[in-house]
Amino acid sequence: MKTAMEMALGLIRAKYFSAPFYVHFYVTERCNLQCKMCNIWKRKSKEMILKEIEQSAKILKGLKAQHIVITGGEPLLRPDISDIVMLLNDYGFSIRLQTNGTLVSEAKIKALTKAGLQNITISLDTLDQRKLDWICGSKDILQKVEQSLDIAAEYMKGFIVVNIAVSGINISELPDIIRFVHSKGAYASIVPVHLQPDKSDQGFCYGYHPKMLFSKEALPEIEKVYAEIMKMKTKAYRIINSRKFLKVSLDYFRTGKYSWNCRAGERFFVIYPDGGVAPCDIFPPLFNIKSNFLERFRSDDYSESVRHLREGCSGCMIGCWRETNLFIDDWATRMEQMQLYLRKKTGTHHQ
Ligand code: SF4
Ligand code: SF4
Repeated sequence: MKTAMEMALGLIRAKYFSAPFYVHFYVTERCNLQCKMCNIWKRKSKEMILKEIEQSAKILKGLKAQHIVITGGEPLLRPDISDIVMLLNDYGFSIRLQTNGTLVSEAKIKALTKAGLQNITISLDTLDQRKLDWICGSKDILQKVEQSLDIAAEYMKGFIVVNIAVSGINISELPDIIRFVHSKGAYASIVPVHLQPDKSDQGFCYGYHPKMLFSKEALPEIEKVYAEIMKMKTKAYRIINSRKFLKVSLDYFRTGKYSWNCRAGERFFVIYPDGGVAPCDIFPPLFNIKSNFLERFRSDDYSESVRHLREGCSGCMIGCWRETNLFIDDWATRMEQMQLYLRKKTGTHHQ
């Protein structure tokens, strides 16, 4: 993260001046894995070259966007990934890179941190090697991810976050995964996988596998696990989710309801590799960052069209979007996240 002052500025701009707070920038759809809950690796969009990414950065700067998450596919497959990071860093954005953790090397992390990368997210859904390989459609993922976490801890000063997609496959393991992540000096992000019982409700980037759904009988187990996670949060384990997000996650498991006051397309949006823009990643590209997007974003037509799209969506539990909204709108969540940054700075997490 950049300074607290920059965070506060981004917040004010998003809350009172309709600036986007958070942008997911898919720099590639290529991936070396084939995860069961993912559709991204099945597509092959053209990728913007560095010059086009610079044009996009200028537009995002003009919109006064704050945070950019560089994602994919697997962003480390781009040979120019350090140049992309450097460019976005030079434009003053707060940057985080999302990776599956299988291609991280000391040389790459050194180059990325030198380019200005401070924060990284690595995916890890289970500590069971066999299950993890099944989810990712590959081999020996656990060792590679563990090695990546160690490398990141050695070279990176910002937040190292481990993204855990919660499904019927890993629910009972969550406290152990959190302890593992904590022992690596990283922060756990616990997010229900975007996988609804009705296949028709999947989105552009999200896949579907029936084995990952929760059975009705799983609720007592889920309640027990989330109660333990809440206790771990109180004991200052490194858990990045806000209490409110954890609470609404549990409500979602209890009721199946996930509607919320979504502001997709305004407070946050996604850019696909070819410059396509969508309010969030359940939608295909609807606009293009290179086609007059600065003016378009500020037009009434744009607001109307994204509002219309949101109204047609039944909701989601996607952590990035919901936490962004909570951070902007909910005072208690803001205080809690600030406390987290402070704990990191002062080293007062659970020992
Ligand atoms: S979830 Fe991420 S790592 Fe897995 S296939 Fe999709 S893009 Fe690749
Ligand atoms: S609720 Fe909003 S962020 Fe979530 S899937 Fe629907 S439009 Fe996207």
